[in-house]
Amino acid sequence: MVIETFSDTVPTRYWHRLDDGRVQCDLCPRYCKLREGQQGLCFVRACQDGQIVLTTYGRSSGYCIDPIEKKPLNHFLPGTPILSFGTAGCNLACKFCQNWDISKSREFDTLADQASPEAIARAAGELGCRSVAYTYNDPVIFMEYAIDVAQACRERGIKSVAVTAGYICDEPRMEFYRYMDAANVDLKAFTEKFYRKITGGHLQPVLDTLAYLKYETQVWFEMTTLLIPGENDSNQELEAMSQWVVEHLGREVPWHFTAFHPDWKMMDKLSTPSATLMRARQIAVENGIRYAYVGNVHDLKGGSTYCHHCGHLLIGRDWYSLSDWGLTANGYCQRCDTPCAGVFESVPGTWGARRMPVHLGRFA
Ligand code: SF4
Repeated sequence: MVIETFSDTVPTRYWHRLDDGRVQCDLCPRYCKLREGQQGLCFVRACQDGQIVLTTYGRSSGYCIDPIEKKPLNHFLPGTPILSFGTAGCNLACKFCQNWDISKSREFDTLADQASPEAIARAAGELGCRSVAYTYNDPVIFMEYAIDVAQACRERGIKSVAVTAGYICDEPRMEFYRYMDAANVDLKAFTEKFYRKITGGHLQPVLDTLAYLKYETQVWFEMTTLLIPGENDSNQELEAMSQWVVEHLGREVPWHFTAFHPDWKMMDKLSTPSATLMRARQIAVENGIRYAYVGNVHDLKGGSTYCHHCGHLLIGRDWYSLSDWGLTANGYCQRCDTPCAGVFESVPGTWGARRMPVHLGRFA
């Protein structure tokens, strides 16, 4: 048997030895049981020298400055640029993955860019980014690297944003979110059947992450649901999901409904019609959600933020660009003085919809 060895490895904390000689990773509810040299389903964690290591510390699939609205976060420092990066691999196996070239990559070529946590924080600061996003693939699988980057950022006053499916075990969840300032969590569907058959995971750990963020942390979080025709877009499921959100997370968590396009192992479905996104938003609003959005389409009404009390336009958006600003300096409605939930500054950012690739070499 060929035993693989890995470079760029760091030890990890969440694992234990099994009686049969294998080692079990306890970071996510997949609980991969690995023999020496084997990689977990996520591809970036592996068994080396009898312990679970992260094999890709410091390596990235690339850096880019995005509008924060692209994460998507609509209530966290609107209009500001965010330095985004990811690594490779993922701990879910979504058949519809819209980032599969990264998340399903088994090639270290994908991880061509290398950067220390200090270099990333320095780059974010010098490039005028208010925050750094751990995105493109799920940061929980590279949490040791993400946490070190977040700590370096925090020392410079730069925020950290996790874009995640929320599929993580209880103990690492607590550690991971101590270092995050904001998150966008996918709630991919509201049935165990969908999670099991289409993502290879389970629903409950995701609900646990959302409830944890709500009740145990100060992390600002928003949710995203990618609607797939015939899979998770029935009125019944959207009603049930909306009712759970209102009951367990409250009315103020912003919720983004985004459009699927055929990709990866789900090429047999049609793209999500705009009408489905609007229907989902309407169901969420009717159930009491205050900030429901349609994403990744041009829809001024569905993409903008309105005062839940008087209906005044608070933040106008066309896709990722801000058009109107109706908040006071402390985040209240200019017309009726009702607070808008979120993290706002006295004026919005002016980054716009630009996307700017960045080479981190000069910040090393
Ligand atoms: S983090 Fe990776 S190795 Fe660990 S249990 Fe999850 S998929 Fe398996």
